[in-house]
Amino acid sequence: MKARIFDTTLRDGEQTPGISLTPDEKRLIARKLDELGVDVIEAGSAITSKGEREGIKKVTSEGLSAEICSFARPVQADIDAALECDVDSIHLVVPTSDLHLEYKLRKSREEVKIMAVESTEYAVDHGLIVELSAEDSTRSDMAYLKETFRAGIDVGAERICACDTVGMLTPERSYEFYSQLAELKAPLSVHCHNDFGLAVANSLSGLRAGATQAHVTVNGIGERAGNASLEELVVSLYSLYGVKTQVKLPMLYEVSKMVARITGIYLQPNKAIVGENAFAHESGIHADGVMKKAETYEPITPELVGHKRRFVMGKHVGSHIIKERINEMGFRVDQDRFSQIFSRIKALGDMGKCVTDVDLQAIAEDVMGVMAEKPVELQELTIVSGNKVIPTASVKLKIGNVEKLEAGVGVGPVDAAIVAIKKTIADVANIEFEEYHVDAITGGTDALIDVVVKLKHEGKVVSARSTQPDIINASVEAFLAGINKVLSDKRLKESVKD
Ligand code: MN
Repeated sequence: MKARIFDTTLRDGEQTPGISLTPDEKRLIARKLDELGVDVIEAGSAITSKGEREGIKKVTSEGLSAEICSFARPVQADIDAALECDVDSIHLVVPTSDLHLEYKLRKSREEVKIMAVESTEYAVDHGLIVELSAEDSTRSDMAYLKETFRAGIDVGAERICACDTVGMLTPERSYEFYSQLAELKAPLSVHCHNDFGLAVANSLSGLRAGATQAHVTVNGIGERAGNASLEELVVSLYSLYGVKTQVKLPMLYEVSKMVARITGIYLQPNKAIVGENAFAHESGIHADGVMKKAETYEPITPELVGHKRRFVMGKHVGSHIIKERINEMGFRVDQDRFSQIFSRIKALGDMGKCVTDVDLQAIAEDVMGVMAEKPVELQELTIVSGNKVIPTASVKLKIGNVEKLEAGVGVGPVDAAIVAIKKTIADVANIEFEEYHVDAITGGTDALIDVVVKLKHEGKVVSARSTQPDIINASVEAFLAGINKVLSDKRLKESVKD
């Protein structure tokens, strides 16, 4: 079993509703994919627009090791546009099902076969590698499909690809289907969509049946339910079948995060391999097992894919975990105080809340009677906002023994308040906002608002949260809690240095 990886994040992935990448974003992702080690990068569809061509040109001008490919329909204009972008190859896509021929193209089987042949010839004559691809191939007549592929191979198509355009295969059917196409003895690609959640399973079956290359996207993004996911496919190949690809597995998590950030398509936490919960353990028995020996409840190590193990403290949490965490935070607790901390965590769990390390620290400090130090305190906050004024905030903070007053404007009242606070603390520490996340915990407009912020200071990230009925107060309090954390840490370090 062999598998070359043909990545179509920048073409099929970009066809995800709501995604539109700028030329520079395409270049950034392509560089990363090349570093990751994919064999082919389908950088886009050159005919689409001027901006798309600009993006593809940026990719081809990078001098990457991967083959750079453009999507093309079997018409000369598409191939010319690809040539203009200086790609190595085209993914020449020809519909083959009667459904597509009749309703989409309004052409006969014979006419479409001729288009496929003529386009292949034209592209090959102009120095392009051609991967001749059949759209909706899994609902096409097998004899016609083979005939079309054979005709393309005869005029120089180097590879063929059969697309399961609407994700109709099952692993059994996929094996059958690709076995028949493997008889053509040309390098063969599987291209599976995830409408029934089977894209990766079907791709694996296709590869077992003799296909030699798989089309995938990072995070499985793509039209509708998406394409086969790169990370799931390569890790399954490696861990379940012992098949290596050129892909550097330890980069997978990082690449997934990057694509999520740039496309704005974030992952469900339970996404296989790269989801935030892929190596998270909550239940007491599981977490305890993993701490003793990771293999008990983990099929692969998080390090294999550059991810990290995480323990979440909820109502299933075991006392072992909490003890360990509290020790790591540097607290010394006796049995009585530990019981108090433990029962408060369980109580929060029963209320449906998960306890993060931040919360645990706050609870522990509270139980231990440690007054959390507050280098910065809010004295006053005034906001002016509306539809005809520029949102403006003024804040008065007490920093140590000094009172400071500043004002700021922003795109909205929260932004204005944060701008004002940043100005106030500018001399004290250079703190950057990494992330701002808002959740309404209950239903109505009077809901409790939960704000979590991540702040960056001297390369270190701290998170803090605040839960209040008012979104502005919650945001400001979370920001200040984070600032206080940073400053307390800083003071601690400085006092140690002294
Ligand atoms: Mn597709």
